[in-house]
Amino acid sequence: MDFRKSLHEGSSVKKVIGVVSGKGGVGKSMITSLLAVAAQQSGARTAILDADITGPSIPRAFGIKSKASSDGVVLMPVSSKTGIQIMSTNLLLANETDPVIWRGPVIAGCVEQFWTDVMWNDVDVMLVDMPPGTGDVPLTVFQSIPVDGIVIVTTPQELVGMIVEKAVNMASTMNVPILGIVENMSYFECPDCKSRHEIFGKSHIEEIAAQYGISNIAKLPIDSSLAANADAGTVEDYSGADLAELKAFYSTLM
Ligand code: ADP
Repeated sequence: MDFRKSLHEGSSVKKVIGVVSGKGGVGKSMITSLLAVAAQQSGARTAILDADITGPSIPRAFGIKSKASSDGVVLMPVSSKTGIQIMSTNLLLANETDPVIWRGPVIAGCVEQFWTDVMWNDVDVMLVDMPPGTGDVPLTVFQSIPVDGIVIVTTPQELVGMIVEKAVNMASTMNVPILGIVENMSYFECPDCKSRHEIFGKSHIEEIAAQYGISNIAKLPIDSSLAANADAGTVEDYSGADLAELKAFYSTLM
């Protein structure tokens, strides 16, 4: 803990929020991107550290084509259209489809460099897209950067109780508070009749959050226009229900 605290001292980043999930495919990277958009639009100088090293999808959602530059000593983050500072392995690879097949310690070393060797410029809030799961790799990443709190992303069909419990245990091992839970793909609202359908089953997120004393919850609908924007690299142009929900959620985090 002291080591991690010392990492924070003298840094130009005020607050670091880790975004975690129990497994891949629940929308962790999507929520990281959209939460960053919500933060930036709320007036905070925002950054994303993409620590999902083996599946880095953040640059694509923001349509970033350029690579990170370096003067041989420090790396410069790439700025998105609206000024969100981003660092990701995809900004370093010659070809974004090159696979990254590193093992845990190398991944942690890379993430640590993203914290120490990147010239972050006066950041109010940094969102860290953590590697999926609650195993070795996310745990080593936690030890490499001074995360101030975490946000858990789940979906209704996951074994939510178990996943939240694992995340709670991981956070308490690292002595980091849980700031909130996002239930992604919570429901689908019919664009014609406005009725809500729980595609992946009934939500139990309120009961589970209450069980662990977590009061900040966001429930995000499935929205095909959000997926389309992320695929097209225009996540910053999205203005639908998911963004509104995350803006309200963001205000409870700060
Ligand atoms: P993870 O980071 O957890 O592996 P992603 O963020 O890559 O998951 O999301 C998985 C897929 O689901 C992506 O294709 C993404 O565009 C889509 N997706 C995520 N959240 C939503 C949503 N609320 N509505 C529609 N599509 C979504």
